[in-house]
Amino acid sequence: MTDRVGKSPTIIKPHATRVAANMPDYGATQSSFSWVTAESLLDGLPDGHLNIAHEAIGRHVATGHGAQVALRWIAKSGARTDYTYGDLERLTNRFANVLRSRGVIKGDKVYTLLGRVPDLYIAALGTLKAGCVFCPLFSAFGPEPIHARMEIGGANAMITSKRLYRRKMAGIRGALPDLREVFTVDGDTDGTVHLQPLMDAADDDFDIVRTDPEDTALLHFTSGTTGKPKGVVHVHQAVVAHDATGRLALDLRAGDTYWCTADPGWVTGTSYGIIAPLTNRTTMIVDEAEFDVSRWYGILADEAVNVWYTAPTAIRMLIKAGADAIGTRRFPDLRFMASVGEPLNPEAVVWANDTFGQPFHDNWWQTETGGIMIANYAAMDVKPGSMGKPLPGIQAGIVTVADGVLTELTAPMAMGELALRPGWPSMMRGYLNEQARYDKSFKDGWYLSGDLAMRDADGYFWFVGRADDLIKSAGHFVGPFEVESALMEHAAVAEVAVIGLPDETAGQIVKAYVALKPGVTQSDDLRLELIGHARKRLGPAVAPKDIAFRQNLPKTRSGKIMRRLLKARELGLPEGDISTLESDEA
Ligand code: ATP
Ligand code: MG
Repeated sequence: MTDRVGKSPTIIKPHATRVAANMPDYGATQSSFSWVTAESLLDGLPDGHLNIAHEAIGRHVATGHGAQVALRWIAKSGARTDYTYGDLERLTNRFANVLRSRGVIKGDKVYTLLGRVPDLYIAALGTLKAGCVFCPLFSAFGPEPIHARMEIGGANAMITSKRLYRRKMAGIRGALPDLREVFTVDGDTDGTVHLQPLMDAADDDFDIVRTDPEDTALLHFTSGTTGKPKGVVHVHQAVVAHDATGRLALDLRAGDTYWCTADPGWVTGTSYGIIAPLTNRTTMIVDEAEFDVSRWYGILADEAVNVWYTAPTAIRMLIKAGADAIGTRRFPDLRFMASVGEPLNPEAVVWANDTFGQPFHDNWWQTETGGIMIANYAAMDVKPGSMGKPLPGIQAGIVTVADGVLTELTAPMAMGELALRPGWPSMMRGYLNEQARYDKSFKDGWYLSGDLAMRDADGYFWFVGRADDLIKSAGHFVGPFEVESALMEHAAVAEVAVIGLPDETAGQIVKAYVALKPGVTQSDDLRLELIGHARKRLGPAVAPKDIAFRQNLPKTRSGKIMRRLLKARELGLPEGDISTLESDEA
């Protein structure tokens, strides 16, 4: 593996921007950084208290920025509605007053089941102001995944819509004994309370609850890519990392127009779709609609987006649509583009550089880490295919654990598990009801991520694959990412997933599932051509032995390819937890 990966054909130098990057010199910031200093940039509350919502809104209103637009909501219809920091302050105060008046108290778990509508954002921040725990659920979940997540988190209150309640909640309500209140944002229905009249009657002022930095603030469920989703607990202290990583990794600055395309039902849509953009006093764009190529290019251009944070699945769909889809639109205001959630193939980074005059900056983190841990920065060279370098304040390493003994691998390009030294503010404080699993994630002072990676001589990290997905074929370790990236280079390929299948002689053989670009027809010739291409790039031991064409690949609703499902189906094994499965195309 050492010979094949980590040799990026191109290095992309930082592109010229009108303003200097927040972090002009990675090395200098890394050596001077401290979390204590990062925290001192925030306000805090008297007596050592800290509340995310105060840092996100109240702090800016108090310093005279109440009139700045905080949230620009684009409805499915295309209509725009602006909410200033002052509006958000008042509305979230009202929401916190509503919770209090209905007996929802500090520490209670408040869930949302809503699309990307303003009520969701108001509920999130109002919940935090009230000292309650915010837990967003993805609105496309069915009743069973909703029930499971509400039961394990002990949900006490829920904000949803009439339609979602009737379709998904009414049947499970009786099985949620802790659930005392269900508010509906668009009128009431049997068993729910209409939120609007309560909001109208509520006071504009609210004395924010003085939460301890270690009080639980957020509950997020993982994507369920490798198995049953885990409930991850985060505390108010996490805001220190949200704020600092927003500034250093996403280069956010006050006054920017910022668009994070993630839904708050997943951690990215909360950490970087609500908290970091507000603590950094940007104007954040929220689009209610689902992905659409033309709409997205339209938003980037019409809203004059400065910083854009999206995901590989969407990027691959943009590439698939071709440059023609951009038409006459230009993006002179776009300063920084970042990607997270899945490995970002080098092809996609280079495509962005050709198309936008700047690369996508890949970054790596997890629901568990609460914030970005490894990233490509605005002022640093980008090596396409690499996740970048650890955030200042983060110590990352490559380790192996054999017979209970952990060894750190320091040689360049040694492959092992990506591990982090715990201690940053947004690290999870627990897996709900899964203490043993939580304990198992730590060893000898390291947090073990479950992902495999390598670090090159310059300190850049390279993703290999999830530990579960590693393939051992005829004595070679094969990371799915390198095989997928090689196939992605071929002009016919839109998307690809690689797995290992048991084989008597080789141990495992590599199989690829390929979705083709529109207009390309599958054929045996194309299959052979793709195998030939992979052999040339990777050598016969690593190239796939077999390629199957698929219309779509199975993905989680957060956009991650579910390789485990491809494998289970291929082998006729049980599919396991598929509560987060989105496109189901066997
Ligand atoms: P589960 O833990 O339930 O299987 P999940 O790990 O997909 O789900 P998330 O916390 O949403 O849930 O995703 C984090 C994972 O996503 C990482 O551990 C990694 O495998 C993958 N990931 C995130 N960013 C990147 C990236 N830039 N490159 C490669 N992989 C990434
Ligand atoms: Mg995970």
